[in-house]
Amino acid sequence: MLAVFSTSRRARLPSPRRSLSSSSASSAPTAGTLSTHFDRLVDRSSALSWNDIISDLARHGDYAEALRAFSWMRRLGVKPDRSTFPNAHKACGCMGLVWVGRQIHLLAHLLGLCPDLFVSSSLVDMYSKCFELVDAKKLFDETPEPNAVVWTAMIVGYVFNNRPRDALGLFKESLALAKVEERGGNIDAVSAVAALSACSRMSERRITGGIHGILLRLGLNSDVGVGNTLIDAYAKCGDLNLARQAFEVMNLRDSISWNSLISAFAQNGRSTEALSAFCEMFSRGVVESSATTLSAVLFASAQAGTLEFGRCIHSLVVKMGMGNDVYIGTSLVDMYCKCGQLGMARQAFDHTKNRNIRSWSAMIGGYAINGCGLEAMEIFSSMRRSGLKPNVVTFVSVLSACSHAGLVDQGRHWFSAMKEEYGIDPGLEHHACMVDLLGRAGKLREAHALITSMTLEPDAVIWGALLSACRVHKDVKLGELSAQKLFELDPKNCGYFVLLSNIYAGAGLWTEAKRMRVEIKSRGLVKPPGYSSIELRGRVHLFLVGDKEHPDHEEVYRYLEMLGPKLTSAGYVPDTGSVFHDIDQEEKESVLGVHSEKLAVGFGMIKTPPGTVIRVIKNLRICGDCHTVLKLVSGIEGRELVVRDSSRFHHFSNGQCSCGDYW
Ligand code: ZN
Ligand code: ZN
Repeated sequence: MLAVFSTSRRARLPSPRRSLSSSSASSAPTAGTLSTHFDRLVDRSSALSWNDIISDLARHGDYAEALRAFSWMRRLGVKPDRSTFPNAHKACGCMGLVWVGRQIHLLAHLLGLCPDLFVSSSLVDMYSKCFELVDAKKLFDETPEPNAVVWTAMIVGYVFNNRPRDALGLFKESLALAKVEERGGNIDAVSAVAALSACSRMSERRITGGIHGILLRLGLNSDVGVGNTLIDAYAKCGDLNLARQAFEVMNLRDSISWNSLISAFAQNGRSTEALSAFCEMFSRGVVESSATTLSAVLFASAQAGTLEFGRCIHSLVVKMGMGNDVYIGTSLVDMYCKCGQLGMARQAFDHTKNRNIRSWSAMIGGYAINGCGLEAMEIFSSMRRSGLKPNVVTFVSVLSACSHAGLVDQGRHWFSAMKEEYGIDPGLEHHACMVDLLGRAGKLREAHALITSMTLEPDAVIWGALLSACRVHKDVKLGELSAQKLFELDPKNCGYFVLLSNIYAGAGLWTEAKRMRVEIKSRGLVKPPGYSSIELRGRVHLFLVGDKEHPDHEEVYRYLEMLGPKLTSAGYVPDTGSVFHDIDQEEKESVLGVHSEKLAVGFGMIKTPPGTVIRVIKNLRICGDCHTVLKLVSGIEGRELVVRDSSRFHHFSNGQCSCGDYW
């Protein structure tokens, strides 16, 4: 029966223990095949010798060969003992072969080896890995006086099967039992890691804190695996301060500890901290970085728009020989796109071997936010030609490309093809893209009809897209309707009140516009302050509106003053309407001239040699006036300016912008 393994190797499932225990080593290379072991086998009739072989193969992840060895052993009439079964079960579990596992289980039973703690724990583990949780629990319940290993196997099993609550329930049960019997032996570092992994999946701060407290009392906090998982658990609850604290108090840290911290910051949008943690790691001599860390750092670089930093990581990747990793390649594509460097992104994309659906989607999405709709569609068709089927994420990128490039018909086509040709139901994001696409094209009624026909409940993003379109196309009635929905869905967001106020102002309805402003005040709503950043020689410089804190602010203002007459002669008329359009703190200043993006561009102008491209990141949308000014500046100074605002890229050059004045 087991001879089948000699020819077919099945896909391996990741071991839960390996994925849970962050401190475990990376996957080991495959050991020699069974035949080489077989040749060296001194005593073929000894179970002991066979056990060595099976355990060696299983330890090196060569599960198919381990099972083949088990089969040979049986064929030669050698009786397996209690040490044989755990490795055979492990092999079945890792390969997801529950039917083979059951037969081996039966054999163990017939040989009178059940229940044996050693065999039981491996069976619980095997059934859990094969997603047969009922059988795993039955075995656990039938094990008389289960020891720590059996308890842990069951807790890990629950986590592996995405049942974090049951995992924690069992963890607490084992804790209570240990207390009654006055022994803490049932709780070891492995079960602590499992409990914390369950916390990570639940993302509840209170529960994580509770388990952390228990582990502190048990003195398990000094284990490096426990510490690493704790960082992750706090990060998943969004409590980065506690994640950092957990990191700080660790007596011993490995590269995974640093990785956990960096990923925690990166995934929670705290890019600057992620980048500085990465630098700190290097300065402390920890140079071992995994693909996950490098991807996290590239992600942070992309968010912060720090091109120079991203480039450094790129050369590091090459130096470390990880340039072929598809995971990193995709992160590089994403980073270059988000830094507005499409050429570099495309190069990274072309160099990525074994491109997967994520790589293609990143490239399509990158072209989309940079307003290169045609290039995005070209890549999309190459992807389909390559035989890859687009997924949910790809379609978001495709629809957003159509939207940014105003490709209405193509957008309509792909929106319906999603379901009809690829069997993918359009989700909220796809609907939002379509509303944006139709809205931008001035087809407000069609956009509204699409929303009302939705089977899903439309969210704030969708109504927000319609509201923005109403501002551009000056549709007061539909604007009011969308805003009303938004006030219900997201009542604390000041931006929607300002948008509606802008719509009123644009239609000359000043009383209504003012009413909105009063409303904002009476509700005590505040917008996050607008700021722009620019990277210069590896340092990020941040400018707030009317900034007087930056050491070079005087020089920047002098430059802007000097620019004034040149702008006027180029035909510039201040767009005071933008004071209304601008939906951030900046409007309070009502001074267009000192908007943060102008300051950041001015700083770039005086600090970089002529011809250098100036890249600025703004946290909110660019206002109409700044957009006009930057277009003119690009012509006057003969410089390319790249501004990434909260929704897209603007590539300014020769007095024009890539967005075609539509954003
Ligand atoms: Zn502005
Ligand atoms: Zn633009």
